[in-house]
Amino acid sequence: MSRPENKTSPLAAPASSLWGVGGERAAQLARLEIHTIEDLLLHAPRRYEDRRHFRKIAELTKDEPFTARGTIVAQGLKRFRGGGKSVFEFIADDGSARLHCRWWNLPFMEKYFEVGDEVFVFGKLVETKPRTMDHPETEVIEGGEESFIHINRIAPVYPLTEGLPQRWLRGLIWRTLQRFESQIEEPVFGVPPSVGSLAAPPPKGGTPNLPSRANAVHMIHFPEELTDVEIARRRLALDEFVELQIQIQSRRRNFEAKSRALPCGGDNRLMKPFLSRLGFKLTESQTKVLREIRADMGGLHPMRRLLQGDVGSGKTVVAGCAALMALESGFNVALMAPTEILAEQHFRNFEKWFEPLGVKVELQTGSRKGGGDGRWQMADGKRQPTPNSQLPSAIFIGTHALLTSSFDLLKLGLVIIDEQHKFGVAQRETLVRKGNYPHLLVMTATPIPRTLGLTLYGDLDVSVIDEMPAGRGRVKTFIRTAEKLPKVWEFIREKISAGRQAYIVYPRVDEQDTANDIKAVTKEFENVQRSLAPFKAGLLHGRVKSADKERVMAAFRANEIQALVATALIEVGLDVPNATVMLIENAERFGLAQLHQLRGRIGRGAHESFCILISDAKNEEARQRLKILEETNDGFKIAEADLKLRGPGELLGREQSGAPKFRFGNLVEDLDLIRQARERVLTKGNAF
Ligand code: ADP
Ligand code: MG
Repeated sequence: MSRPENKTSPLAAPASSLWGVGGERAAQLARLEIHTIEDLLLHAPRRYEDRRHFRKIAELTKDEPFTARGTIVAQGLKRFRGGGKSVFEFIADDGSARLHCRWWNLPFMEKYFEVGDEVFVFGKLVETKPRTMDHPETEVIEGGEESFIHINRIAPVYPLTEGLPQRWLRGLIWRTLQRFESQIEEPVFGVPPSVGSLAAPPPKGGTPNLPSRANAVHMIHFPEELTDVEIARRRLALDEFVELQIQIQSRRRNFEAKSRALPCGGDNRLMKPFLSRLGFKLTESQTKVLREIRADMGGLHPMRRLLQGDVGSGKTVVAGCAALMALESGFNVALMAPTEILAEQHFRNFEKWFEPLGVKVELQTGSRKGGGDGRWQMADGKRQPTPNSQLPSAIFIGTHALLTSSFDLLKLGLVIIDEQHKFGVAQRETLVRKGNYPHLLVMTATPIPRTLGLTLYGDLDVSVIDEMPAGRGRVKTFIRTAEKLPKVWEFIREKISAGRQAYIVYPRVDEQDTANDIKAVTKEFENVQRSLAPFKAGLLHGRVKSADKERVMAAFRANEIQALVATALIEVGLDVPNATVMLIENAERFGLAQLHQLRGRIGRGAHESFCILISDAKNEEARQRLKILEETNDGFKIAEADLKLRGPGELLGREQSGAPKFRFGNLVEDLDLIRQARERVLTKGNAF
């Protein structure tokens, strides 16, 4: 992420103001997102070459890339007849052996080298007889006063763009450091050496003290030793995290300064009868979370709370209780879910729970608009409660249809967002803005690894349900190849005959079901129907009409349909406790977190459940991923593994474009730094 612009700093000057950076070079730098001098100084090397030690050409191998140094003894360009194909080759000699370096179809390479040039070559062999590299990275060694920048040291190798030579960029950064290094300031919340231990690397790491920012910038480009690089990176990463925390905390403080909370603590008038009729006792974890929510909703500032709980941990009922607190206090509630199916399910649940208490429950989705009872009137295309109505408050449940401008809510006391990770931050705020600083409760079953929790959701307080309701059957997970499908189907038939139900899931390629996905799932549906007869199967995917979706879901809930064939559309939220089998085809095409969500559809009743992942993936990494699911049901462990394997973008989904980008910070590795940054800003926060 970029540091806040300080226009008076000399580092904020454009890169083009540097000596030797003309229009063309400036344009090339801009393609690397280098606009200012500071950007240039923070352009991190891609790797480093230890040019104090080389490998002899005779010792190069096919396994690992290495740097060698030699003199070009011959070179030539060969053009093949027809098709314009060519190969340029030079032969370098270092006294131990000769190395052939080839470039295919890049005839202009010829211009860059001459016999007699001394060169660095980085790569691994593709052939050993003769020793050959294809398209190695090279750099011609030139003498003169600049040469010490490039040789006899650990040299940085930067990400480049077309036309920009490595050597030129390294020279530019070197000269810029010479001139500007002393002007690199500690950020306001910097880490002066005296508190260096604050940022101590984890025990297995190196030195306890972090360098000054200026030193760190120097070290990241021209380290004395390779171990310096990580120390410098951690220092610069810490600055990035501190800056992000400052933004998050000051946004939060602004928000608190502007807003006075609506009094929504409730008086238990509805809660008591609700809990006594619920049919089960809240778990300790649910009760603890509810206490936190009540403290917020009766407090001075509007609640901003993230409720995290693994799939099946019982978040909905907690949301229900929060809603009752607002309702008891005379305010309306809005609950937004990511899919129509889920909104529909919540609607049914809340209707069942709340109507006996005299609370109105309304559904608002793309295809269904609630409110036909006269409490709403259309005025200027807007739906608003009739001005003088003394109607009791209500809960409005819906999809993103709740966000449309024609849906206005007066007396909005609480906004609940289910499956938060399916929405963007902007959508969440749009709904909040429909009220006068209502309380906000966002729920997610995607266990967010701590690093992301502290960054992406840093402006929210977090409550965790870390306990499953008692009496749940176990979920067993198996990975099988497609060859075993006949046996698997036999097993599913057995379970269905015993009265259970099953989900059969096929991958969709994208967020939206494509025509091809639908063709595939429709064809499979016909097969399933045939092989399960006389039992019944239903089909669900993104293009099924809303009314049909409702009909299929209702039939599945009532066990009139025993198998539900679907795309990953059913991933979120569905709750049908009698369904105990989940078959997922081409499982390797799903992300781990998503598979865990899917698996969360089963194991919701007392019966033992079975998740069968079908995959023919040969790829070792894909198999490793699936094995994690076989080994654990712990959503938190799975999310951490997913984060390691695929990075934060994938885990959060494309919707989360708000995910911060760092030059040096690493969301997978740097939990300790993120914690330090947060604590530091929280404790010193009043200085801002
Ligand atoms: P999720 O956290 O995945 O949204 P749900 O809220 O859908 O989970 O709850 C899963 C199931 O567990 C529901 O059928 C719900 O009624 C049930 N449930 C929730 N809390 C309890 C509890 N304390 N004891 C027993 N069952 C519960
Ligand atoms: Mg849920």
